[in-house]
Amino acid sequence: MKLGIVIPCYNEEEVFAETTRLLGELFKSMIDSGIIDKESFICYVDDGSKDKTWALIQKATEEFNYFKGIKLSRNFGHQNALIAGLMQLKDDADALISMDADLQDDITLIKSFVEKFKEGYEVVYGVRENRRTDTKFKRGTAELFYKLQSYMGIDTISNHADYRLMSSKALNTLADFKEINLFIRGIIPLLGYRSCSIYYIRVERFAGETKYSLKKMLFFALDGIVSFSVKPLRLITLTGFSIFFLSLLVILWVTFEKVFLGNTVDGWASTIISIYFIGGIQLMSIGIIGEYIGRIFEQSKGRPRYIIDKEI
Ligand code: UDP
Ligand code: MG
Repeated sequence: MKLGIVIPCYNEEEVFAETTRLLGELFKSMIDSGIIDKESFICYVDDGSKDKTWALIQKATEEFNYFKGIKLSRNFGHQNALIAGLMQLKDDADALISMDADLQDDITLIKSFVEKFKEGYEVVYGVRENRRTDTKFKRGTAELFYKLQSYMGIDTISNHADYRLMSSKALNTLADFKEINLFIRGIIPLLGYRSCSIYYIRVERFAGETKYSLKKMLFFALDGIVSFSVKPLRLITLTGFSIFFLSLLVILWVTFEKVFLGNTVDGWASTIISIYFIGGIQLMSIGIIGEYIGRIFEQSKGRPRYIIDKEI
């Protein structure tokens, strides 16, 4: 079978040589032992790096014929760089594996991915066995995120990121999902094809620093919820109704106090509290609605998710 590996890279000059060396060796052994065809390839997608990443990619393609490179015109973000590679190459291989450049994902899994593909699976997920190499903060927030997603009724594979194999059939179906705010791992289960998981231990980054800042991660998580569920909007409606019914009771109480008891001068505290409380809920609700409208806005413009500058 003809295998392709797609690797988005953003300022990865520090890990590039090692990644290329290890993958090159693995590929050679897999081709020699006939597990994959010799037309198989490894494609780096340079996501507008500002360091020497593209020059290194170019060098790799000159040295070994199974390396390819795609250069995006600027930084589009990890998910867009990944979709660029997948969409560009989906018809050039029987299956594509997506992985990060930093060697956090165990590359020995690649053989198991291929085995599962040969057994007839269209999608094979790489799932982290544990999160021991993460900071407490990242582990905690990740757990919270998965809980929130499942509460919102979103079907995801916990502890699976973007290390997976997809058959060209699955990729061609993925091509029909035109969303701009991409959260690829949330879309794959929606395809519904035969899939399975393989477990591995994710190690720390080989070199360099994470390219996901806290801010990027938060917005990514927001995409993971708002792009897949309208439950937040329902919660607003529900909150609105609850407050409305509560206020009916308050009206009864206030009228009673005024008409029958006559002590209606006090009440600064209750007034102030309700102003802040209702004001807060309203602003939050407008914000949530805004998130959806913003996505409609972006989707309606239909701008390209990525722009390719060069391909080698
Ligand atoms: N990446 C990218 N564009 C970006 C940010 C990241 O192509 O704007 C790539 C990066 O080079 C790496 C992968 O996405 O190959 C995952 O990034 P990183 O390892 O920094 O994320 P983490 O593992 O810390 O979540
Ligand atoms: Mg990483």
